[in-house]
Order: sequence, then C-alpha cells, then structure tokens
Amino acid sequence: MNNKKVLTVKNLNKFYSKNSSKSVHALNNLNLEVNEGEIFGLLGPNGAGKSTFINILAGTSIKSSGEVFVWGFNLDTNPRQVRASIGIVPQEVNLDPFFTPKKLLELHAGLYGVKKKDRITDTILKLVSLEDQANSYSRSLSGGMKRRLLVAKALVHQPPIVILDEPTAGVDVELRSNLWKNVKLLNKQGVTIILTTHYLTEAEKMCDRIGILNKGELVALDSTKNLIDRIQRKNVKLLLDKKINIEEINLDFLEIISYKNNLLEISYDKSKVKIEEVISYIHQQNANISDISTDEANLEDVFMRLTKN
Ligand code: ADP
Ligand code: MG
Repeated sequence: MNNKKVLTVKNLNKFYSKNSSKSVHALNNLNLEVNEGEIFGLLGPNGAGKSTFINILAGTSIKSSGEVFVWGFNLDTNPRQVRASIGIVPQEVNLDPFFTPKKLLELHAGLYGVKKKDRITDTILKLVSLEDQANSYSRSLSGGMKRRLLVAKALVHQPPIVILDEPTAGVDVELRSNLWKNVKLLNKQGVTIILTTHYLTEAEKMCDRIGILNKGELVALDSTKNLIDRIQRKNVKLLLDKKINIEEINLDFLEIISYKNNLLEISYDKSKVKIEEVISYIHQQNANISDISTDEANLEDVFMRLTKN
C-alpha cells in the first residue's frame, strides 16, 4: 500500500435545517484521509451520517463547512473532476427495467462523456459476471444481478475510487459474498474502495482500515486490527490435568469466571495481565495445562463500546 491520499476531509460539517429553530448536526467536524489502494470502511448505526458523507462526495448534498479533496481535486473549485474520479454505488436499486445491462452501461458512459472507442462495457459486464445477461431486459434480472449492475454502472468512466453505500443492506448471504468478491477483485486491480456498512463482521473481513461514525462524529479511526486490539478484555479457558486451589491465583485485573471439572475459565485485562503469569500460578501447584482456548474480540465489541452513548 502506498501513502498517496486519494481522499482528504478537513473539518467537515453538515447541518440540516429542519425548521428555523432546530437543525440536525449530521456531520460534526469530520477529519479523515483515505490511502490509495486501500479498502476503507465507514461504520455506524442508522442516522450516524454515513449517507450524508457519501452524498457530499457524490455532489448530491452540499456541505455546510470544511474542505474535501478527492484525487487531489478540491470539491469547491473542481467539482467536475471530483465527480469524474469517483464511482458511486447507491444503496437503493434504481434501474430502468426496459434497458438491457449493455444498453444501460452504454447510456451511462455517454452521460459521463466517455467516447465510444474508450468504452469498456464488455469488460465491465464480465467483471460483474453479467456477460450472459448483457442483452436481457433489466427487469428480468435477479436481485443479485441488479446489484451487480449498479456496481457496473459506477465503473463506466473507470474511476480510481469506488464508493459503495451499504451495498449489502437487505441482500441475502450468498449474494453478499458474491458482491464482496467483486469488490475485492476491483481493489486488486488498483481501485480504492470506500464503503459504508453496519454489518460489522463484513467490515472486519473486507476493510484495511475502519472509521466508526456515531451521531456525526468520528469516534474511532484505525486499522481493523488495531480496532479489534482495543478490546482489552480477554477470555481464556484452561483445561488442567489436575485439581488446583484457585484461591492461590491472586492477580489484580483478573476474574475467575468458573472452575468445574478442571476447566478454568478466566477473564482478564490484556494490558495489565500476561497469560504467562496465570500459567506460572498453575505450575506452582504442580498442575499442567492440557488445553487452552480463547475468545478473540471482534469488531462488534469495539463498535458496541464506542457507540454506546
Ligand atoms: P446514515 O446513512 O448513517 O444512516 P444519514 O446521513 O442518512 O445517516 O443521516 C444522518 C442524520 O441526518 C440523521 O439524523 C438524519 O435524520 C438526518 N438527515 C439525513 N438526511 C436529511 C435530510 N435530507 N433532511 C434533514 N435531515 C436529514
Ligand atoms: Mg445511510
């Protein structure tokens, strides 16, 4: 991964004015950068401001203050270049049922001013596995195919950045993994991916870095691994080869959850307690560990913690 920033957001604010007295602060002083070639995930509960953010990048919503640079272009002074640099995959399926995928992509390319000789319609159709449906009416496509066609639409002008707003919301499991495969493939070809989702396990699997948005505020921004590491508590189950006196294990920040049939379950603060200390307490009683298992924290834990209040 290189260090070129393809997206820079500085002190971005968005207010929606409901009526004269009350306005919604949908984005609260957002600062973030996205590196070229990465898959960046923006996570957050409903109403966090994810779509507002995407819509500002797409040019369909106007920011209240702050600066946005996409592919080095300033959104305020070069909105056309910004638009040309990104392909947006919207959340809702919204396709004309009477066009075929091929026709639709051709029309869309025209809309973006892509000359006939520069169009890569067939390549895109192949990429999203719709080459066999190239000439079928859109209305005859399955839900999954329609989703893939939306992805295809975002690619007609070969943007270096593709942004997907909750691409898997309401999409069945099989379809989701298929969609993610396509996204990974795009990324492998050098396209930077920005996506929003509230499926945490998917973000965990897909993203190099994750930002967590809550009520318009970025409450975390880190590599996926570091975010998961933030969960300090760790649960470990130890199977011992003989009975021990658990009162002898006397460590601060360690809690004994259960001890039955030589199976000892403990919970401790990773930053304060090392598992070696626990093991040495056990060895002091001439017992050995015959099996050990841990529960790794997942992103869901981090997410729940950071967005709790
Ligand atoms: P998310 O995509 O994370 O669910 P949104 O960006 O859609 O969040 O919404 C963020 C906040 O802005 C919410 O409180 C929402 O009600 C409000 N909001 C979104 N769009 C509008 C709008 N067009 N007019 C007024 N308020 C809006
Ligand atoms: Mg949304």
